[in-house]
Amino acid sequence: MLIDVLKTHFNGVSSVEIIDTELATSLYGKTTFSEPVTVHAALQVKEKSIIPTIIKLANSQSWQLYPVSSCKNWGYGSVNNVDECGSRIVLDLSPMNRIYPVSKELGILTVEPGVTQQILADYLEKQDWQFMTPVTGAGPNCSILSNALERGYGITPYTDHFSAVTSLKAYLPNPDLCESEYISATSSLDTSGVDFVDKTFKWGVGPYIEGLFTQSNFGIVTEATIRLAPKPKGFCAFYIQCFDESKFGQLVLLIREVMRSLEGIVGSINLMDKRRLIAMVADNPQGPGVHAVMNAQQVISLGNKNHLPEWMVVGSIYGEPEIVRSAKKIVSRLCKGLGKLIFSDGIAIKAGTFLSNLVPVGPLKNVRSQLQSLQEGIDIMQGKPNQVALPLAYWRNPYKKADKSKALLPDQDACGLLWYAPLIPMEPEAMANFVEFVRKTTPKYGIEPLITFTNLRYDCVDSTVPIVFNLKDPDALQAAHACLDELVEIGLRKGYVPYRLNVEQQRKLLAGQISEELSGKLKMAFDPNNVLAPGRYSSRY
Ligand SMILES: Cc1cc2nc3c(=O)[nH]c(=O)nc-3n(C[C@H](O)[C@H](O)[C@H](O)COP(=O)(O)OP(=O)(O)OC[C@H]3O[C@@H](n4cnc5c(N)ncnc54)[C@H](O)[C@@H]3O)c2cc1C
Repeated sequence: MLIDVLKTHFNGVSSVEIIDTELATSLYGKTTFSEPVTVHAALQVKEKSIIPTIIKLANSQSWQLYPVSSCKNWGYGSVNNVDECGSRIVLDLSPMNRIYPVSKELGILTVEPGVTQQILADYLEKQDWQFMTPVTGAGPNCSILSNALERGYGITPYTDHFSAVTSLKAYLPNPDLCESEYISATSSLDTSGVDFVDKTFKWGVGPYIEGLFTQSNFGIVTEATIRLAPKPKGFCAFYIQCFDESKFGQLVLLIREVMRSLEGIVGSINLMDKRRLIAMVADNPQGPGVHAVMNAQQVISLGNKNHLPEWMVVGSIYGEPEIVRSAKKIVSRLCKGLGKLIFSDGIAIKAGTFLSNLVPVGPLKNVRSQLQSLQEGIDIMQGKPNQVALPLAYWRNPYKKADKSKALLPDQDACGLLWYAPLIPMEPEAMANFVEFVRKTTPKYGIEPLITFTNLRYDCVDSTVPIVFNLKDPDALQAAHACLDELVEIGLRKGYVPYRLNVEQQRKLLAGQISEELSGKLKMAFDPNNVLAPGRYSSRY
């Protein structure tokens, strides 16, 4: 029935492709934390001019439209499984993948929703732009625009991806306002088509509306202009291996001091614990499908075999070569007595790479794969997208091993993954308490406590704790959700507030708060019939 209606309106229309229920569910309904969500249909949009027609139909037919850009929101989800009446239709904007240069000299360009990290990286390379792609761990096939809308972050110098968005355009779901695209007031009188001021000045005039399109269901965003970080003339990654657990607090202070004194020169800094490092370099010793954490002996022996520390700091320095040299001296001074410091341009890594390439067998085989991962990590820091982080999602997948020679798609490969991503004060005691909380909580549910902290600034730190499980095991699935519920619920009481939530947590956490009341009223102004992604970012709208 729905498909017939869609065919009546869109058959033969070149700007849109209809996808039927079975294929739509298979392409867009799979998640890393649930049974597939039934998607009644999908519309693949090739030209934005068709969007007002779709919005009007959705309003008159009570359809629910779920806009996605690359639909790879692994661990968080994009399509809601709520029992709203009406058909669930995914609006896939990935075929819209054009890039419009604004200033090659200043590194500003406009991307459509389907522009992925790889498409942008290829464009910059081909057109010889001296700027970096804002990459994330989610890899080459993920959209730049939707990551910014989710307020995601990466490790290149402009870490906060929505901060780097200087302007955007969108269609509003309100049937009375959907005919023309929303553009900011700075742009509306410019008839030249260049819109330079609008595209470079983030705030425009009047209320800042663009922010309302992030982590929300207020509009269908058709383009975003972003400011890229320049490729630095000098670059160096640094690694601090701390083998002494009792020095955790000192490490925290070191990172805080580096972030504060080298702000703008040091990008974000990652701090990972030993279990997290093991999950990066070794197979799961329990066997992939087993719902149990590694025992202490396994952690010790895998740690020893792979020379892994209790904690590892990974950071990056960008700038003129003289600045990089000076920053390296400061990092060396600050980290004295805390552990082994390695620089990526140092002799140890260069010699290791050379030797392990020469003799890729025996003990050096292990070193080789670690160095390869290290190199991929360095590439990421320099804005070259790759899949280095994705095998983590396969740690408990008994059916599919991560094969990085192909595109890794954790939802299509039935990987079980949820994220616990809270913000914590950047302070030794608070962070130590958080580590203890995670290490006590997740094993109760058979979930490995894998801890990463990412410092975007020196006041707050974001921890991403991946909850990795066997998706096909119903008990493991239930335990994973219960584990996340406890982490979020108890964590909130301890002051750890998630920066981003999955589709289910979003509804639970915000329910009844004044912020939800207000955004509900705003939603009614933007979308009086609640056709755009109902329940995606709140319990009611
Ligand atoms: C191993 C691993 C590592 C990861 N590392 C990172 C990381 O470093 N940083 C990070 O941020 N994330 C990371 N992720 C999480 C996630 O996969 C990425 O954030 C990914 O970029 C989001 O998916 P997407 O861009 O395809 O989103 P989509 O599914 O396309 O969109 C996400 C949501 O944004 C909204 N949206 C999308 N497009 C539009 C539009 N055009 N108009 C209106 N609303 C829209 C919708 O609400 C949609 O549900 C990681 C995931 C894994 C598995």
